[in-house]
Amino acid sequence: MPLLLLGTAQDGGVPQAGCGCINCFRFKRSAASVALVDGKNVVLIDITPDFRFQYRMLIERFGGGLSAIYLTHAHWGHYGGLPLLGRESWNVRNMPVFLSQPFHDLLSSNEPFSSLIRNSNITPQIIEENVITQHGITPVHVSHRDEFSDTFAFLFKLNDRKVLYMPDADNFEGEPDSLIRSVDLAIIDGTFYSADELPRRDITRIPHPFVVDTIKRYSDIADRIMFTHLNHTNPLLDSDSPERTELEAMGFRVANDGDVIE
Ligand SMILES: [Zn+2]
Ligand SMILES: [Zn+2]
Ligand SMILES: [Zn+2]
Repeated sequence: MPLLLLGTAQDGGVPQAGCGCINCFRFKRSAASVALVDGKNVVLIDITPDFRFQYRMLIERFGGGLSAIYLTHAHWGHYGGLPLLGRESWNVRNMPVFLSQPFHDLLSSNEPFSSLIRNSNITPQIIEENVITQHGITPVHVSHRDEFSDTFAFLFKLNDRKVLYMPDADNFEGEPDSLIRSVDLAIIDGTFYSADELPRRDITRIPHPFVVDTIKRYSDIADRIMFTHLNHTNPLLDSDSPERTELEAMGFRVANDGDVIE
């Protein structure tokens, strides 16, 4: 059962609207999303504003099909593709969408999402922490800016390997740390490489772990870590950058759109 990486950028994608930086001219990545492909049974984790193109990639690589969608949290890059399932577009019937109760409450009380539920385009299914679903996926709570909903990472098996998908997290302290150490592959938040990318921002207010710190923390398990959710400012976008060369020499990997993990 392969995992297809449909997108590996932070919510705003690369290029990012309104930006003329060098990375935004050189590179192209969709917002973070993955598809677990089990024959015709495809489970999507997060449905991004880039979903039209990501679905085409899914067809080209694995013939398409979509059985269910899981949502990590209520930041728009992770669920902004939901309206593409509605009447103006796909008009899909009863697509199961797995999400937390607070996230469900947010969707069901706001347009254009509430009409997706009313029109039976999507059928919400409430996830619970540590309760394994029918797709063999275990939701685990993650601390992240929770102004609209709580945030989950997902644990699942690829063949016999345990995989953790945690695209957004405030930090890797405590429980996330033990989770990351417990799996065979952890695809985790690599939004910012270092504070140098954000010269005008107070770094204590940036709710993401910096990759420079993460690679120190996990140098002993480097070959089990893959970074995703890259911001347009991140030097890891450039496969020839000294930062990326150093990180890969340590054994870490950077996720790329279109990568398939068997
Ligand atoms: Zn995000
Ligand atoms: Zn940019
Ligand atoms: Zn987020």
